[in-house]
Amino acid sequence: MTAHGLYVHIPYCETKCGYCDFYSVPLMDRPTGALVSSIIAELRHRVTSDRTIRTVFVGGGTPTVLHIDDFRRFFSAMAEVLRGSRLEEFTVEANPATLDAEKMAVMVDAGVDRISMGAQSWHAEELATLERLHSANDIAPSVEIARSAGIDRMNLDLIFGIPGQSEATWGASLRRTMELGVDHIACYGLTYEPGTRLTAMHQAGRLTACDEDLELAMYRQAIATLGQAGYEQYEISNFAQPGQQSVHNLIYWRQEPYIGVGPSAAGLVDGLRYKNVADIGLYQKRVAERGDASLDSERVTGADRAAEYLLTGLRLNAGVDLDQVSTLCDVNVPGVLHDTIEELEQLALVITGGGTLRLSTSGRELGDSVISKLYLRLVGEAERAVSLRVIQ
Ligand code: SF4
Repeated sequence: MTAHGLYVHIPYCETKCGYCDFYSVPLMDRPTGALVSSIIAELRHRVTSDRTIRTVFVGGGTPTVLHIDDFRRFFSAMAEVLRGSRLEEFTVEANPATLDAEKMAVMVDAGVDRISMGAQSWHAEELATLERLHSANDIAPSVEIARSAGIDRMNLDLIFGIPGQSEATWGASLRRTMELGVDHIACYGLTYEPGTRLTAMHQAGRLTACDEDLELAMYRQAIATLGQAGYEQYEISNFAQPGQQSVHNLIYWRQEPYIGVGPSAAGLVDGLRYKNVADIGLYQKRVAERGDASLDSERVTGADRAAEYLLTGLRLNAGVDLDQVSTLCDVNVPGVLHDTIEELEQLALVITGGGTLRLSTSGRELGDSVISKLYLRLVGEAERAVSLRVIQ
């Protein structure tokens, strides 16, 4: 019986942050009962007795904004669905302004043992630029609420590269986060995604993006500061005290199987990748009609599959085992990538050894572009294989 990760997407937030391109809608006065019923129905449909669950991540959105009755109903259904699973980790995403002792107790009763909180910054102006709902004063009390309920494992997300941010304010955000004694910190560079308010302001010249060199300096500052405090970088953006890596996120990066439930959630089950419809009304309708709400699903094989392994696996400091990927995907990955890897090695962007390929420190700083180069080489190989099949 294959053990899976389980991701549940709750697509409501109090308000929409200016930089956010996740599928989430402001809650306002909306009732949350009908959506919770559909999510519970999809959970029961997808988490069948032949699929055990190793890890759970309830994210969004902001799961903690659900109305308390629906919140209780959801977590009691989760506990029932998970009965019999040997869970290694059960994380819920929360925002500082939305966590209270009552909701925390409901989660702990259902087996939640880890909280991931979007702190983002400890500075009022930076939180205002991001259009975050919470204030810096909400962060420490929310961590305390979780701790008082018995939660020891906690991640706090921080953002660097915010317009107006300096190395001094970024350093203070890092320091104040570490002072809380959380075992995991994620540091993301601010990105300007299509369709967000932040991007529109940037394009209209009403906001000046952080200088690229300053952003790189902040990234290096995070690695150095967190490293000195014992947080090991294990992924491009993620740092953990020894033994406290996110087991659930490692499932994604290692391309292991996971079930996705909720509007816009994605899953990888029995080698089939699927994505649910990103529309609450349509989601509810589809779940009522057929039990799930996947828009489409595809079996990714060969060089395309190998490209996916590299895309996520190279984010990890440990890198990827090329021989293992070759065997899993039935493609000679070291052979296909030989010239590209040699070129990147000469530029000191990747390191090879013992069959493993990983990014160097400077490779991690260029992260996406180095990974893209390898990814595109493999995708090119996949297209070549398809055209050869057509010709034959
Ligand atoms: S709280 Fe998170 S999911 Fe919700 S709008 Fe803000 S960034 Fe997006």
